[in-house]
Amino acid sequence: MIYADYNSTAPLLPSVKEYLKTRLDTPFFANPNSLHTRGRQVKEILENSRRYCAKFLDADSYQIFYTSGATESLNWAIHSLLSASKNKIVISSNQEHPAVSKLLNILYLTGDIDLHLIPTLPSGEIDSIQTLDLINNLGNKIAFVTCLMASNETGVIHSLDKIIDLCNTKDIPILSDSTQLIGKVPFSFKSSKLSMAVVSGHKLGALPGCGILLVKNPKLLSPLIVGGEQEQGVRAGTENYLGIESLSIALNEIPTHINLYKDVQKLKNIFEQQLQSIFSNLIILGEQATRLPNTSYISFPQIHSQALQIELESENIFVTTSSACADNEPHTSISVSAMGLDDQIGRGAIRLSFGPNTSQQDFDYIVEKLEYAVNRLQRLKSR
Ligand code: PLP
Repeated sequence: MIYADYNSTAPLLPSVKEYLKTRLDTPFFANPNSLHTRGRQVKEILENSRRYCAKFLDADSYQIFYTSGATESLNWAIHSLLSASKNKIVISSNQEHPAVSKLLNILYLTGDIDLHLIPTLPSGEIDSIQTLDLINNLGNKIAFVTCLMASNETGVIHSLDKIIDLCNTKDIPILSDSTQLIGKVPFSFKSSKLSMAVVSGHKLGALPGCGILLVKNPKLLSPLIVGGEQEQGVRAGTENYLGIESLSIALNEIPTHINLYKDVQKLKNIFEQQLQSIFSNLIILGEQATRLPNTSYISFPQIHSQALQIELESENIFVTTSSACADNEPHTSISVSAMGLDDQIGRGAIRLSFGPNTSQQDFDYIVEKLEYAVNRLQRLKSR
């Protein structure tokens, strides 16, 4: 079986599995907010995990806020940044994950924000020159700027440094959806100079249902989920401590994975070249841009991607057609439309996202099965 859908969810890491097996046999199951000994023991593990998470993300412990995943972190960040500002203008890229774009759209429709969308260049990168102009022109009327670090579909990594620097100079908060980037290439919250960034546990091989909102200045946060006094009083609800512990184990593996991904990147480049030599009409989305080492978003314009996905699955290869969240939606991918490409390209696109241990044999097997499947579908179509 070849699992090539890491950008949707990474399988549980062996180290996380081992940890959980041992952990389940401990007596440390109690509410971390209870004052008795058991509660305090769980609280101690929780706070140790926070220190680990802070270390691996290069942040301070007080900047780590546990959540249920990237969607909650992003929603929370957006609500907080709006509450903290007297301004209504929000600048966002036009290729955000729905966790950002749907919320911004709702806020726009209810009249809570004035939304300015940053266009995407045909290369798949955001138009940073237009963004800088927009920030310079709108300056002190902006509530915040948001732009994803790396696309979950194309894997394109956006160069945000100048935008972040300008925002910092003008004292405009800047949020970035860092879900896909963290764990695949080096990331330091401190050096990023971002106001807020996010982590999703299940993208890193931890348990699903846990994540982090990284916040430079926690004073900017206001609660989205209210109730108890957890997480410095701004995120209520008993902490998912097993998830959080698994996340700190997974974050510990990042340096090893980043090294492994360097080899995956080399294998992926050869894989893409092989496909280009087999299929003259193949389109690699974001080909000219810097991309995540593990992501290939490829389109066979004459072919229906879902048919191809099914063909590959019959050979035990698991891929998606865009992102897992959009797999069942009628329209084609967010990046294809943001890049201004023909919908036919979106309809023929499959995304392969590899893991740190994807091997040469795996790539060879995919090439073989892809060649067979695409030729078969082309023949069926021309009948
Ligand atoms: N942002 C990006 C770029 C993603 O790829 C995803 C997951 O697909 C999310 C946000 C949402 O993450 P989660 O499943 O942790 O809520």
